[in-house]
Amino acid sequence: MSKISKCPKILIVGGGVAGLTLATKLGKQMGRSDRAEVTLVDRSPTHIWKPMLHALAAGTWDAQQQQVSFLAHARAHHFIYQPGDICNIDRDAREVTLAPITLPGGEVLVQQRTLHYDVLVMAIGSRANDFGTPGVVEHCHFIDSQIQADTFNQTLRARVLRSVVANETLHVAIVGAGATGVELCAELSHLLELAAHYGDKHIRQRLNLTLIESAPRILAAFPERISASSAEQLRRIGVEVHVNTRVVAAEAEGLRLGDGRLLPAELMVWAAGVKAADWLAQLPGLQATRANQLLIGPTLQTLTDPSIFAIGDCASLNAQENGKPLPPTAQVANQQAEHLARHLGRWLDGTALPPFVFRDMGSLVSLSDYNAFGTLGKFGFFRGGFLKGSFAQASHAYLYRRQQIGLHGLRRAGVMWLAETLNKLVRPPIRMS
Ligand SMILES: Cc1cc2nc3c(=O)[nH]c(=O)nc-3n(C[C@H](O)[C@H](O)[C@H](O)COP(=O)(O)OP(=O)(O)OC[C@H]3O[C@@H](n4cnc5c(N)ncnc54)[C@H](O)[C@@H]3O)c2cc1C
Repeated sequence: MSKISKCPKILIVGGGVAGLTLATKLGKQMGRSDRAEVTLVDRSPTHIWKPMLHALAAGTWDAQQQQVSFLAHARAHHFIYQPGDICNIDRDAREVTLAPITLPGGEVLVQQRTLHYDVLVMAIGSRANDFGTPGVVEHCHFIDSQIQADTFNQTLRARVLRSVVANETLHVAIVGAGATGVELCAELSHLLELAAHYGDKHIRQRLNLTLIESAPRILAAFPERISASSAEQLRRIGVEVHVNTRVVAAEAEGLRLGDGRLLPAELMVWAAGVKAADWLAQLPGLQATRANQLLIGPTLQTLTDPSIFAIGDCASLNAQENGKPLPPTAQVANQQAEHLARHLGRWLDGTALPPFVFRDMGSLVSLSDYNAFGTLGKFGFFRGGFLKGSFAQASHAYLYRRQQIGLHGLRRAGVMWLAETLNKLVRPPIRMS
């Protein structure tokens, strides 16, 4: 790559699972000693652990307590935080463009601006893919960001209230039985079981929950045993699970299925498919998949521009023996961030980057308080194995705790956990307003 200044500018865009981990580690390693200027850009002022968004959407998880303020975290970890929504990359000028920041009424607060980089790391994640299905954008909720989860929760609370007052059934339909759809189903059922303590004892029975999947089984990307156990557990708690069922349109009264039937629903969630931002696929000179993910090589650099890296859900790396790209999971995002944090400094000093090797630690899916299922990865001491029940639930919770320790250090993460536990003693377990 061409010459880099003495204090290179490392620009990380997207402060999710991958980006915030990387910014935190690089800030400590290089930002503190002015070896590099580390900047993190995110469109949101706060980070939230995305695999828990379904609990935020259900109102069983307190966002205020779990979110990380980028500004405060940046100050403590020696990097710079810039709010902004990236909308273009000029590779020749080595600049990214951030869209204007506007107030809800449309008033422009900050004009469009550009930021220079020597090294750019794209970590802007992904969202559900509606595959252009008619009516989805107008009638379905998405659970891909804190704002969307919050919007869903406000509507959900209003609908639940109406169903209690009007003595009606509330029909909720979730499209896509990946981790998001399955975990959301279980969490909604659990929410209404908890809500039964606050007035209407039969409130859970008022909820009709349907999960729709076009593949022959739910959790198609997970091992078969996990999907079979999860499907059985969902049915046991009263969820209607439809596999081999295609949704061809979303309408005001419900979902139109491939066989022409209308599945009535007042509240619909689209949790199927994964795609990255559309504009990524239009960047001149960079290659992307059909799902708009930037194609990267084993060093996590884009195939044509070594000064641009991409990690997490917005990147696609063919690194598996079966020739398939790595899945868009928190595990992959985290390991890629750790790898880059370990080697980027030495690469800037002229050492070649080693290839990224993914260590499959297994898969876990949590069905709220009811159960969790998982498999252990196959490497080193571990040789696979099936997990369920409280051990699997604890392992799932540990993934988040480990991320908290990585971001805040053991002592601070411990205090946060304690505060959370104490809070649970004095606050209702579900969001009331
Ligand atoms: C409900 C749910 C449950 C899940 N459960 C699991 C699970 O159990 N296990 C698992 O491994 N994975 C799970 N996942 C997937 C996992 O959350 C993702 O794979 C992971 O978050 C990807 O990390 P990332 O850093 O690539 O992106 P993200 O964590 O999504 O972070 C992307 C960041 O980029 C920012 N951003 C986006 N666009 C822009 C832009 N244009 N400009 C500036 N900033 C931008 C966003 O604000 C965000 O902070 C789940 C996902 C969901 C939604």
